[in-house]
Amino acid sequence: MNFELCAWCFVLRIPHGRARNGDGSKYKGQKFKAQSTKHKVKLFMRKPVIAGNWKMYKTVGESVDTALALKPLVANANHCEVIIAPVFTSLKTVADRLEGSNVRVSGQNCSTEVEEGAHTGEVAAFMLRDAGARHVIVGHSERRHFYSETDAMVKRKCQAAISAGLTVIMCVGETLDQREQGNAENVVRGQLNGGLSGLTALDLDRIIVAYEPVWAIGTGRTATPEQAQEMHAFIRRVFAEGHTATAAEALRILYGGSVKPENIAGLMVQGDIDGALVGGASLKAESFAKLVNYERR
Ligand code: PEP
Repeated sequence: MNFELCAWCFVLRIPHGRARNGDGSKYKGQKFKAQSTKHKVKLFMRKPVIAGNWKMYKTVGESVDTALALKPLVANANHCEVIIAPVFTSLKTVADRLEGSNVRVSGQNCSTEVEEGAHTGEVAAFMLRDAGARHVIVGHSERRHFYSETDAMVKRKCQAAISAGLTVIMCVGETLDQREQGNAENVVRGQLNGGLSGLTALDLDRIIVAYEPVWAIGTGRTATPEQAQEMHAFIRRVFAEGHTATAAEALRILYGGSVKPENIAGLMVQGDIDGALVGGASLKAESFAKLVNYERR
């Protein structure tokens, strides 16, 4: 690690994707503050996040079985945050059964509405929080494409989630057509700016971005680590333009799209990849645990 001394503070400078925690994980992720006697030490670490999106799979009983099978397999995973997103009907039971463990529970979606009211079929962010969720996935491509979610809706959902005290995992990503026409960056920029404009500096602490190229979701076709890294670095630049360089440096950006135990290590060594949002391979406790316990090089 590099130490740089200036008149007012120590700044610990962490080479991107190189430095390691005591347990071997990368210094990537969360903000860490400590006090020295005279000076303040401020260090930005991006702690990896491995999140499983269970989509519309599993009954309550199946969800609990999977969650309980997962719990001991990831109990020592201090190098990352572990999140699972069951269907709404299982969320409260799963959250209760995981209480006291290192596995957090997430919603897969929430209403654009902040307050309760006459919105048949919707679930408000504060209700997710009440049911035990600490995170919510917003703007997943399946919601954008099958349920016509717009950037404006994604933005309202992000704001509702933040006001309920949830951390948002906001998904962005281009279709194959858009990539082939050379529009991938424009699309992702639009989704980022559309979903996240107007957030305060404090709100940004509650944002995680997931880059999920639509052509890689559930197809078995993963973006190469280099393709993913290129887009993640772009996302960080766009975030810095729209917000601040500091917020961009602290932002965790997950990759999603056919992540499996066989390909996660190659993705996680990339400097701007701070974790994974996983669909298919998160449905079984054993394979999700392998993802969580990915080999840290
Ligand atoms: C997802 O649903 O967010 C996803 C990335 O799915 P899969 O891992 O199955 O491609």
